[in-house]
Order: sequence, then C-alpha cells, then structure tokens
Amino acid sequence: MSTAPEAPVDLTPALIQLIDDLGRGPLFKEAATEVAHAIGPMLSDDDPRRQGWRRARVFERLLEPDRTIRFRVEWVDDQGKPQFNRGYRIEHTNILGPYKGGLRFRHTVTEDVLGFLAYEQCFKNALTGLPLGGGKGGSDFDPKGKSEGEVMRFCQSFMTELAKYIGPDEDVPAGDIGVGGREVGYMYGRWLRLTKKPVGVLTGKPIPLGGLAGRTEATGYGCVAFAKAMLEEDGHSMDGAKVAISGSGNVALYAAERTMHRGGRVMSLSDSKGSVFCKEGFTKQQLQELMDLKLKTRDRLSAYSGEGVEYAEGKKPWAMGAYEVALPCATQNEVDETDAAAIADAGAKAVAEGANMPCTAEAKALLAKRSVPLGPGKAANAGGVGMSGFEMAQNSGRVPWSKERAINELETMMATIHQRCVAYGQTDKGVDYELGANRAGFAKLADAMVAAGVG
Ligand code: GLU
Repeated sequence: MSTAPEAPVDLTPALIQLIDDLGRGPLFKEAATEVAHAIGPMLSDDDPRRQGWRRARVFERLLEPDRTIRFRVEWVDDQGKPQFNRGYRIEHTNILGPYKGGLRFRHTVTEDVLGFLAYEQCFKNALTGLPLGGGKGGSDFDPKGKSEGEVMRFCQSFMTELAKYIGPDEDVPAGDIGVGGREVGYMYGRWLRLTKKPVGVLTGKPIPLGGLAGRTEATGYGCVAFAKAMLEEDGHSMDGAKVAISGSGNVALYAAERTMHRGGRVMSLSDSKGSVFCKEGFTKQQLQELMDLKLKTRDRLSAYSGEGVEYAEGKKPWAMGAYEVALPCATQNEVDETDAAAIADAGAKAVAEGANMPCTAEAKALLAKRSVPLGPGKAANAGGVGMSGFEMAQNSGRVPWSKERAINELETMMATIHQRCVAYGQTDKGVDYELGANRAGFAKLADAMVAAGVG
C-alpha cells in the first residue's frame, strides 16, 4: 500500500520552545526568536542540504556560546580609591574564523546584553563573507563622566585580564558603545607592554597604532550604502531624500556625513536626553559643529545652538515631520511600536538599522504591516566589522591600505551583503531583508558546522 509523502512540519514552534527552555535573558530571547522565525520554515523542507543542517542540529547548537569569560577589573579613581567592575568576553563561535566583535563599556552592560550581541555578531560576520567568527565583550564601567586618567587606568586593567584570552588568530575585539579609538588605543598600549607583540589583536585602533583609515567611519558609511541600495531596489533615490537619524556616536555622526555626501538631507540626531532637529536639514557646517561637540568636547546635544536647529528635551527624533529614510543608530530596543508608527506616518520608504537590534519585535511587526522595508542591523551595520576584517588584513599583510581602497572595498562589501539579503529574502510581498539576512548568514554558518562534524 502506498502512503502519501509526509507533510513537512514547520520547526519554528519547536525552536522557539527550545529558546524559552534555555532560560536566557529577554534580549537574547528576542534575537534568537527572530532567527527561529526565519530559519524554522527553511529547515522544514526536504532539500538534502537543509536536511543536513537539521540533522546536525545546527540552529540548536548555535544558541550556546563556545565559552563565556567573566572577570573582575580593578582600578584606582582620581581620589585614590580602589574601584572594581565586571568584565566579560563571550566567544560565541569561531567556525568561520577568529572570534570577532566589539567591546561595550556602559553601565547597562549585562551578560544578557552581551549574549544577544555575540549571537547577532555571528550572523553579521557570516554575512560579510570574510573569515570572521563571532564574539562580544565589555564591562559595566561607563567612560562617561570619568576623567582621562580614570579611563586609561580602567582600559589598562581590563586588558591585563583580557590579554589571557585573545590573539590575532584567536579572538580580535574592537570598539562598540563607550569604546572608541581612545579606549582601544589604551588597551592596545597595555597589550604591547604585556606581550611585546605588535600584531592585529584589536581593531578600531588609532591610525598611528596600525588602525585602518576609514574604520571609524565604516559603520555609518556602510549603513548609508545599505539604505541607498534598499531605496534603489524599490526605484527610489538617496539624492534629495530626507533622512532621520537617531544617536550621536560614531555610527550616527558618520551616517549623517555620508548621507550628505550622497545628496540626502539630515533631519535629526539624538542622545539619551533629547533630539536636535532641523526642518531644512543640517548644513555641512552645522553637522561639523555637532561632530566636534560630540567627538571632541564630548558634550550633550542640548549644549548646541544653530540657526534653524531645535532641541527637543526627552524626545526621540521620529515624529517630527516627513522623511524618506530612518536610520536608528543609537542602541537596542530604542524604536518601539509607537516610534515605528511615527516612522511609517512620516512616509519612510526604508529603515536601515545602524545600531544592533534597535527595533523591538513589535516595532518590526508594525513596519512589516505598513509595508516599510527594514534593513536589520546584522546586514545594515555590518560595514563596521567588515572594515575590521580589512584592518586585520592590513595588519597581517604588514602594508598600510589607503583610505580610498578601504572605502571602495566597504562599498563593494555592502552591495554584496544587500544582494545576499535580496537573494535569500524574496517573498510575494517583495524583499524581506530580515528573513534574507538571517537565512544567508545561517546558511554560511550551517555549511561550516556540518563540514566540521560534531563533538
Ligand atoms: N561593535 C561593532 C559591531 O557591532 C564592530 C565590531 C568589530 O569591528 O569587531 O559590529
């Protein structure tokens, strides 16, 4: 008697149950659940390659980092009082290359925050096409409000511990929120004292220490390249487009600079206390002044005044008139459902995430319902880590790259990432970038994990 072929079972509910059972924090759950929604249906068909991924339990195994390192960081404040913070490095997977991902120094850092970032980083790094594994680290130390000397002593002490676990072919940290060239420089200085090895063990280094020209700009520039490709995919243009940006760190500021370079108008920036807006778009000079304020004097946006520029205390930048592009470049979960509604009402034709997971699950659902395309952080902000990959190449090649070469390679890489998302994210309603990014990243990781066997 012949039996009908078994109907494929959608694995998504089982994967989500498994994530719940792990008992990890809410951010990790949010990030992993998003991936489960993209991967579950893909694992359910009878394609032999995908059957291999399923049999090898690749999705499940990837939920657990290779290891989590936790340590005490002691330092002495300006009053001579001993202080201590908690330091972390999560080495998630090195199946594609050395663990790679930034260090975040911020009072809100917890294992949950770094756990979700390390997980996301694996997919992002896979999407770049470079040989990079995934990791993340950091501390609940916040450089904000600390003196130059305190920041230096903290960074040195952090590296004294971290140096035991990292190496140019092993684990290569970089910056993230609260960690810029200054902090990376101090950490690299201590690494040199400890090891006597001037190698590419950190990226995002200041240029005199072997940093790559263009690395600082890369995440913001890459995000604009991705947004531009999204617009063009749907027959729109960045030229003349109004662009709302949140945040005022490296990512936001260089996204603003690149937007102007591409002919767009920058309507806003923000920090944790409020937003600055300009109805006509900032002038080049105003943007330069804002960059100096944030990067040199490290002041709040409320301290800025410029012609036609308004400051809105306690407000996010999404509900301030019409714009075509939204670039959330501040931090995770900054865009909630109400903000997403404001973005859709503003007429946005593309949202590209410069930060990591800035849109909540509810915000994403709303944008999908209102047919606003969303470029997820793991694709749209991959320019930063991609450029870090080039910095590693520069350091081990022992020949400096020109800034022009680095930025050209960045543009090519972002175009390729966009194409990968399009190829994997086609639906009957157009391109679903989140689906595409998760599936393309996962496919790369899964093939490698199957090839390497288990155990
Ligand atoms: N922190 C950045 C990110 O979230 C860059 C990481 C790196 O360059 O290693 O991707």
